[in-house]
Amino acid sequence: LWSQVLERLQQQLSRPTFETWIKTATVEELASDRLIICTPNPFAKNWLQKYYIKMISDVVQEIVGQPLEILITVAKVEEGGIDNSAIFSWSLPQPVPTPEKPVNPTVQPTQLNHKYIFSRFVVGSNNRMAHAASLAVAESPGREFNPLFLCGGVGLGKTHLMQAIGHYRLEICPESKIFYVSTEKFTNDLITAIRKDSMHSFREHYRAADVLLVDDIQFIEGKEYTQEEFFYTFNTLHETGKQVVIASDRPPNQIPRLQERLCSRFSMGLIADIQAPDLETRMAILQKKAEYENVDLPRNVIEYIAVNYTSNIRELEGALIRSVAYMSISGLPMTVENIAPILSPQSAIVEAKPIAVLQIIADAFNVSIEDLKGNSRRREISLARQIGMYLMRQHTDLSFPRIGEEFGGKDHTTVLYSYEKISQLRQTDPEMAKTIRQLSDRINFSSRDKN
Ligand code: ADP
Ligand code: MG
Repeated sequence: LWSQVLERLQQQLSRPTFETWIKTATVEELASDRLIICTPNPFAKNWLQKYYIKMISDVVQEIVGQPLEILITVAKVEEGGIDNSAIFSWSLPQPVPTPEKPVNPTVQPTQLNHKYIFSRFVVGSNNRMAHAASLAVAESPGREFNPLFLCGGVGLGKTHLMQAIGHYRLEICPESKIFYVSTEKFTNDLITAIRKDSMHSFREHYRAADVLLVDDIQFIEGKEYTQEEFFYTFNTLHETGKQVVIASDRPPNQIPRLQERLCSRFSMGLIADIQAPDLETRMAILQKKAEYENVDLPRNVIEYIAVNYTSNIRELEGALIRSVAYMSISGLPMTVENIAPILSPQSAIVEAKPIAVLQIIADAFNVSIEDLKGNSRRREISLARQIGMYLMRQHTDLSFPRIGEEFGGKDHTTVLYSYEKISQLRQTDPEMAKTIRQLSDRINFSSRDKN
């Protein structure tokens, strides 16, 4: 049974994941109602428990024909300690030197995104210096560039670089304490500590870092108490030769209401800025991303995406992912012609038939077209209806009263209200923005085929 399970899991998981977490596990006991899986170390146990237990249990159920309770244990180790050699290898660019000592259990590999490693970072003229400085800091923390202050606009790779430093340190020295924290989390931890009267442990925690990575420091603006506490944390680490890396969307002297003393601390190491990537770099990023996603992209498609997304690499990647997703759903070939309507932001709105909009909304929200035309005030129906009105306005040339008619004869003020409400939510609620974008893509897609 276990070998069958392994075989299936192997198909579902990437190779490093499978080799590191699954292949190393063995069956300890198999009974009619439960399966005990034995892992080589507590890390593997936690990892399986956290991320793969559902998958394992599904596969087992598929094979056995009934659900089994899945338990995960850790193998008893003989003298000599735990073998951690495989632990970090899955996320790292190069082969890992086998750590001598067991990995410090306080290190949370999950704090860092496993994709944010140096080998996945494309170096261009826009980020060359930031990249070189990050690498230098990763190689010898607490030396020349302390703090390293990375600054640049949204989606240009600051978080990626700073986390790459963390991964690299853990590779070289698995027991080092790498703390990655957003400024928001630092602030929240501080507030909690004040409330629970546990300032002492708060300070102890942050001051124990070997490398402290603080993201989005611009959010510290105007927060007097956080600034003060961060100042002391910073000083303690700096004085003891520990590395601090800070990321911000602007240089220290442009962060409003930042205490002078912090501003000067932030500027005493190296300020490395990241600019928007040029076309060539954007294409290289897409190329690399496509390789990781295992998709083959024609050069003109890469170029088309790169030309249209210039200022934010997250959006650039998002465009690629959306294209790949739509091509695989639709079965259409990956051509410029096919991806263009999905991607271009404004001209993307393709004229749709009102009924197509209704149908897509009904499918997406799992309600019927009658529901949309009816008067039910059930929350999910009325939200679907409002989103439908909004999208119908966007994707057709119908007036508000005409849209009201399409929705079973609603008053035009109802339509107007819905339109404004959804417009506003779209601005303020990222989930809503995403939903709207996805639905809008779907409408474009279906209309384009039929027109
Ligand atoms: P920031 O923190 O500056 O807003 P991120 O580090 O979150 O930006 O980067 C946004 C996305 O773009 C991430 O998925 C990241 O991996 C990717 N990215 C940014 N710069 C590069 C680069 N030079 N090479 C490859 N991927 C990049
Ligand atoms: Mg970031």
